[in-house]
Amino acid sequence: MNSRSGRRDQLIAEMGLGPVWSRRRQAADASSAQQPDLLAPVEETPSVPAAAGQAPSAIHLEAPPAAPPASEVARMDWDALQQAVAGCVKCRLCETRTNTVFGVGDRKAKWMFIGEGPGRNEDLQGIPFVGPAGKLLDNMLLAMGLSRTENAYIANVVKCRPTDENGRDRAPAPEEAGACMPYLQRQIELVQPVVLVALGRTAAVSLLDLPPDSAVGKLRGQVFHYRDMPLVVTYHPAYLLRRLTEKGKSWADLCLAMSAYAGQH
Ligand code: SF4
Repeated sequence: MNSRSGRRDQLIAEMGLGPVWSRRRQAADASSAQQPDLLAPVEETPSVPAAAGQAPSAIHLEAPPAAPPASEVARMDWDALQQAVAGCVKCRLCETRTNTVFGVGDRKAKWMFIGEGPGRNEDLQGIPFVGPAGKLLDNMLLAMGLSRTENAYIANVVKCRPTDENGRDRAPAPEEAGACMPYLQRQIELVQPVVLVALGRTAAVSLLDLPPDSAVGKLRGQVFHYRDMPLVVTYHPAYLLRRLTEKGKSWADLCLAMSAYAGQH
């Protein structure tokens, strides 16, 4: 173990956080074992043998529900929106998800934190930001005087877990983010936060309609606007766990967001 990784492990231990990558791999395996094959061809559905002398009973094969158009999503209330996400097959990420991950927190919050998409822990539990990255986000909220249950709402750009060919977490592709954005847009409209915090590149480029390769390092440290709401970009907590030295920058971003919040009153 070199001194840098030793220091990193020490800091993680001080924060009460366990190793990240080894646990991700373990859960990815568990997740893939439970992945429902939602889009399996219908001819593979086992047939029910008819009893002797009886006509075969009809087998009803229902097509997956069509995804609602964005114009319909834009009028949904919370219940309808949550149901639409739960049954959504609008992009290929539905094929490998265990659960959709809708969002969590105070639905009348003044603060909204937006991440990228579910990882393996979130996919298994159906809750955004659980596991080590979630713990770090909770600590960041706490330092701001916020919590998941009080004045903060947390959601992701995509509601289903993106994985690579090896079953590992990956960033959502632009077309996947684009397919899912109407749900996030409606969540923002329903919450009506005062300030938005984009956690990582996917959230930043999706909300600000920027080129997909925009770097967080170039976006942080300034106040953007999503519609009329101030929006501050900072690093994703999962990235901060890998680059603990960037935590100071992230705290500076959160302080900037608090200034923007204060400026709205
Ligand atoms: S990621 Fe979003 S658009 Fe794609 S299937 Fe899941 S809920 Fe639907």
